[in-house]
Formats: sequence, C-alpha cells, structure tokens
Amino acid sequence: TKYIVVSGGVVSGIGKGVIASSTGLLLKMTGLKVTAIKIDPYMNVDAGTMRPTEHGEVYVLNDGGEVDLDLGNYERYLNVTLSRDNNITTGKIYQHVIERERRGDYLGRTVQIVPHITTAIQDWIERVSKIPVDETGEEPDVCIVELGGTVGDIESAPFVEAMRQFQFRVGHENFALIHVSLVPDMHGEQKTKPTQTTVHALRGLGLLPDLIACRLIVPQPLEKATKEKISMFCHVAEEQVVGVHDVSSVYHVPLLLQSQGIVNYLHKRLNLASIVFTPEMT
Ligand code: ADP
Repeated sequence: TKYIVVSGGVVSGIGKGVIASSTGLLLKMTGLKVTAIKIDPYMNVDAGTMRPTEHGEVYVLNDGGEVDLDLGNYERYLNVTLSRDNNITTGKIYQHVIERERRGDYLGRTVQIVPHITTAIQDWIERVSKIPVDETGEEPDVCIVELGGTVGDIESAPFVEAMRQFQFRVGHENFALIHVSLVPDMHGEQKTKPTQTTVHALRGLGLLPDLIACRLIVPQPLEKATKEKISMFCHVAEEQVVGVHDVSSVYHVPLLLQSQGIVNYLHKRLNLASIVFTPEMT
C-alpha cells in the first residue's frame, strides 16, 4: 500500500479535506483503488457527542459510525464505503491502548505515548488501509491519511510523531506528504512567510513535504513569483508547489490540482506505474 499523508499548517479549516479527497479522486482516475483515513486529534471517541453548531454536522457511516464530515467527502469523491475505523481520534487510540493495558498486554512495562500510542496509531493505519472499500472487494493500492488540526499543536503531536516513524516503517517509496499551507493575499500581494514558518516547523518534527499546497482565500491563482519564492525558501522544487485558490465549487479542485501536474509527480514519487500498468498491459 502507498500512503499519502495530508497535513496542514497556519490555520485550520483551510481546505485540507477537499485537497485530500481531490488527490484521492485523481489517483482513482488513473486506475488505482483508493481508500482514506481521517485523523481527528480530539479526546472525544467520536463526533457523536459534539455540538453540531460548533463542529459541523455529524456524518453517519453504513456501520453506524458517527464521524467527521470529511468522511462524507471521501465517500462521495472516491465512491467508497468507509467504516468507523476510518476515523481515528485521540479518544479511540487512548481507549484502545488503555484497554490493552488493563488486559495485561504490556505487563511489566511502562506504557508511554512514545512508543505505545505512536505504535498503536501506525498499526491502526496499516490495518485499516488494507480493508476493501469498493465493489471490487480488493485491497486498496493507495491510502490517503488526512491529519486534522495543524502541525505544531500539542493535540496533533503524537500523530505527527507516528507519521515520522511511519515513513521508515513503510519505506520512502511508499510514503508521500502533502502539506497544506495558507498564502494570505494582502491587497494583491501574496505573502509566503506563514508557509515558510509552517514548513520549518514540519521539518523540525522530522517530516519533509513532497508537495506544498498553497491555499489562497481569494479567487486569484498562485503567482509564478510566489511559487518560485516558496520553492526557494522551503527547499522544494517548483513542481512541488501547487496553488489552490478559491473556486466556485469544491468539485473544481481536482482539475485545479491536475492542471499543476500533481498526478505525474505522485506517480513518479511513489512509483505508482508499477501498480497500475501490469506487465501484460505494456
Ligand atoms: P479542513 O479539512 O482544512 O478543515 P475543508 O476541506 O473541510 O477544510 O474545507 C473548509 C471549507 O472551505 C469547506 O466549507 C469547503 O467547502 C471550503 N473550501 C475548501 N477548498 C476550497 C476552494 N478551493 N474554494 C472554495 N472553497 C473551498
């Protein structure tokens, strides 16, 4: 399985869910089977006990799982059926680890965030990523993992650390990271500093972005000069910087990403051709 982690910086509600689902859809269009996992770093076990006016509508899955709205995005964009385990929360992970501790699974040892919580997160992702989610009944080729919250928060720290370890567990050719950042437009000037700061924080935690998705909360596209500056200051090639400006419908985001070459980039980066084009086809 290939893993594409989508993290976010600067502010929440930036459009990470839409970018993650759109990326999944584009890969599905190239013939890959795609699944998705959403991580919500709150202590609630699920979204069922949260106030809808604060958190947004609760999305109910076929198995009765009460989850984050983003799971609805994934089911619609990817035409898949997900289960409650596709939504990981801090509450679920702690509950799982504490149940194991009471059962005596760690008998004699001190149970800690690193390695026990971080290992539980990685095991959970690996297990759920292999569950068939479409009518073929086959194991997915690609798993999109959306990390809720913003990098640098206390809340998301164990998940960020789990992902840092995970890149070694699954190997470089099976793990790519898309970091979604904000590019504020100040009276027509596109500012890169928040992106520089969040990418710096990400690197400090041991994660290097393969793609930096720059969200502009205006209808103007990312300018060439801004892209060059982000490439220069964030130590990535220009092809690794993509712009996502405000569009009239979120269903236009896949085309916007496609036009900037992210499918080719991810195919190369994760060697996806080896999965899609079987020897008989070439
Ligand atoms: P996050 O996952 O970062 O919390 P979402 O993907 O849920 O963010 O998006 C937050 C809101 O922004 C949603 O209402 C979504 O419809 C809107 N949105 C996201 N991307 C775009 C875009 N490119 N253009 C216009 N609206 C967008």
